Amino acid sequence: MNLWLVMLIGVLTSCGNKPASEMKMHVIFDNPSPRTMPLALFGEVPDSLATALNIQDGIPSSVSVMLVEKDGQQLLFDAGNGNDDSQLLPYLQNLGLSPSDIDAIFLTHMHGDHIGGLIKDGQKVFTQAKLYIPSVELDAWTQTPESTSQNVKTLIDAYGENLVKFGAEDKLPCGIEAIPAYGHTPGHTVYQVGDILIVGDIMHGVALQMAHPEFCARFDMDQNQSIASRKSILEQVSSNGWKMYGMHFPTTEAVMIP
Ligand SMILES: [Zn+2]
Repeated sequence: MNLWLVMLIGVLTSCGNKPASEMKMHVIFDNPSPRTMPLALFGEVPDSLATALNIQDGIPSSVSVMLVEKDGQQLLFDAGNGNDDSQLLPYLQNLGLSPSDIDAIFLTHMHGDHIGGLIKDGQKVFTQAKLYIPSVELDAWTQTPESTSQNVKTLIDAYGENLVKFGAEDKLPCGIEAIPAYGHTPGHTVYQVGDILIVGDIMHGVALQMAHPEFCARFDMDQNQSIASRKSILEQVSSNGWKMYGMHFPTTEAVMIP
């Protein structure tokens, strides 16, 4: 094959200027020890159901961040809570990565346990990364001065030109597809990468909500919309045979629906 043609194909299929490589997925528990969601967060769960699911003492959970290595790019999905005991940066360090090696970050939504790790002492942590935020989500948190928290202001200032606000029709790099899954927050969005679906906060209690998506955690801002999104996403995962990873799943393994 003509060398120029080979180079052209390389440019078209890779999402950066680094050589293409296989996609690799890391699920990073940001919390240093196992977490449990109190059952009371999920409203009126009948005792009989709680006992049958063995969740009467709470539902196993986590605060997780996903790192996808694709086409030589380091892609982060959310950034954890940024607490002093946060495990994200130590995990990256173990892989030989420094924060400046992250090329892009895709946010599912803008709750503190997802954006806290982006900022340290008012400065951006991931100095070279483009920060992709769904426009519906960003707009919702910046509509009025009163709706804009100090965290969000600091984030916008710190990431400046590296912040990329995207709409539903916009193409994302590296073959990533954004799928709106509104309800948990106004612009909550999940991401498809190949046969992987990163579902953000579509479920806070997998042990309950996989079989009973009608239950909402108290954190879901619009409960009816959350239920509809959860059912729709679970249906898509099942019909497409996707592997699902979530930011509050208690496992680093992919969850699939037969
Ligand atoms: Zn969350």
